[in-house]
Amino acid sequence: MKELKLDEKTYFNKISFPSFERIKKGPVAIIECIEDIPCNPCETICKFGAIKVGFPITNLPILDEEKCTGCGRCVPVCPGLAIFVLDYNFNEKDCLLTIPYEFLPLPEEDEKVKCLDRDGKFVCDGKIIKVIPPERNAMTAIISFAFPKKYYNKIRSFKR
Ligand code: SF4
Ligand code: SF4
Repeated sequence: MKELKLDEKTYFNKISFPSFERIKKGPVAIIECIEDIPCNPCETICKFGAIKVGFPITNLPILDEEKCTGCGRCVPVCPGLAIFVLDYNFNEKDCLLTIPYEFLPLPEEDEKVKCLDRDGKFVCDGKIIKVIPPERNAMTAIISFAFPKKYYNKIRSFKR
């Protein structure tokens, strides 16, 4: 087990944040779980064995970026809403971020939104691409939205 230091530079970049080389290859999970709570549905749902919590169950999850296919099955099962899937190659200019979303009403596809950073601050404009309603995902809606690639490591939510 690696020693974990819970700051953005060490934790997000070395433990569960995929390398930029992997990000450029295609959709991949990003796990921003920072609490030592007894929890592991992300590990059990991933049929590719790409997430390891192990024992004790309070370990933070570790992503194996090469095993991750970006399927997104881990996104709605995380009670901490801490898992996203990033598709850096969505189109020439934009990346696509898929997030769990527990606000109502749900946004509409093609809707313009304001993209926010981890502190809820506005960064750039974006567009809703796909909305999967909660009934199809363990009662958590899944939203995919697009924004300029240069913010791939900054944007984590949106407001309408
Ligand atoms: S996106 Fe799919 S393959 Fe990747 S960690 Fe999540 S469940 Fe596993
Ligand atoms: S399911 Fe979410 S909160 Fe639980 S260990 Fe995995 S990433 Fe952390």
